[in-house]
Amino acid sequence: MTSPLPSGESTHPLQAAPTGFVEKTPLERYVPPAKPSLVGLSRGELGKALGTVGVPAAQRNMRAQQLWHWLYLRGATRFDEMTSVSKELRATLDRHFTLARPEVVAEQLSVDGTRKWLLRLPGEHAGERPHEVECVYIPEADRGTLCVSSQVGCTLTCSFCHTGTQRLVRNLTPGEIVGQVMVARDRLGDWQGRSDRFGSDRELAPGVPSPSSATGEQGGGYRQISNIVMMGMGEPLYNFEAVRDALLIAADGDGIAISRRRITLSTSGVVPNIARAGAEIGCMLAVSLHAVRDDLRNDLVPLNRKYPIAELLEACRSYPGLSNARRITFEYVMLKDVNDSLADAKALVRLLKGIPAKINLIPFNPWPGTKYECSDWERIEAFSEIIFNAGYASPVRTPRGRDILAACGQLKSATEKLSARERLALRAMAMTD
Ligand code: SAH
Ligand code: SF4
Repeated sequence: MTSPLPSGESTHPLQAAPTGFVEKTPLERYVPPAKPSLVGLSRGELGKALGTVGVPAAQRNMRAQQLWHWLYLRGATRFDEMTSVSKELRATLDRHFTLARPEVVAEQLSVDGTRKWLLRLPGEHAGERPHEVECVYIPEADRGTLCVSSQVGCTLTCSFCHTGTQRLVRNLTPGEIVGQVMVARDRLGDWQGRSDRFGSDRELAPGVPSPSSATGEQGGGYRQISNIVMMGMGEPLYNFEAVRDALLIAADGDGIAISRRRITLSTSGVVPNIARAGAEIGCMLAVSLHAVRDDLRNDLVPLNRKYPIAELLEACRSYPGLSNARRITFEYVMLKDVNDSLADAKALVRLLKGIPAKINLIPFNPWPGTKYECSDWERIEAFSEIIFNAGYASPVRTPRGRDILAACGQLKSATEKLSARERLALRAMAMTD
């Protein structure tokens, strides 16, 4: 791994993050199951896996291509579905591997069609509370967006983010990341040639786009999931290789086929990996800016002490392929009396001058114990108007999935340890893209 995971040599990882603390150390390791899953393997890795079970070298590329097709285009969950693969090889594969995705432990469906899945993942310590992450599907008239997690918890400690307060942190594997897309396709019946596995029109709430009226066109047909946003739990650029490998599988035109232009990676500003994301993934970029001055951003996004605003914006300017049609999204969480003055709005416009940008104002989603409040609605409108008048579309995220608390950016964490009353309060405020 070359990702700059903090080494954490100086502070004990179990200590609560004190002020001035930029990063925590990941506490957990992924312990692979005895019978590994093929989900998340690239073509080359599939070929190697085939080699370990005795497939002759001359056949490996062809067999790997067959597996690729069944895994990522057809969404096979059992080897015996793979009718183009010989019975003998299917039996061999079944003895050594699985096609397991992350285990779905709960599914919630909002009245507005938003769906949330709670996924259970293995951690280092058997018998301890298992790791859980969430994945959220948000259908809209012209698209269906899946909000995907990259880590259990987050090593960063943004002061307004509940994920940042979680102690347990581990990187997800490529299989666990692309596996979220596959679970969602399973549950929505969204694989090529199989609209009947789990999801069906009958399960959808009234007014929710159904498979027949669905969204993005890829891979030879309409798909309910047309877009991916890496905006769930974790900092994707601190799990760079796994996120890259997973997104390259998701974008491959012969498989899941969600184009890079429809994949957006959100980062709190891991500057060295922004250029890598551009070069090695080629997806769209969203940057969690949240403040226009270093002193304030140091408080809100402590990683700013390592990579201050000027460096971050320089990396944004150099992001490959930017144009008016391909803009960087700057996310700005609206915190009452903290970063929401009209002078801040004007400074934001000045700061982003020359960068093809969209500005996404996010109403703060409060959690028990937070010291922040969401800006008043009038203030959000006035802030948004300054941005709009400067020539930016400045959509304010509208509430989605309120009833199931499906807010991108603070998924799993927000549902933990809350009383029923707190949950109700949060539900009323839940906001997402
Ligand atoms: N770690 C990445 C991606 C996950 S967070 C990042 O920070 O960009 C996705 C978005 O949700 C980020 O813009 C994050 O700042 C925002 N967010 C986190 N907690 C929030 C909260 N309580 N209310 C509103 N937005 C929040
Ligand atoms: Fe991590 Fe993003 Fe939350 Fe910051 S906002 S703590 S980077 S998940």
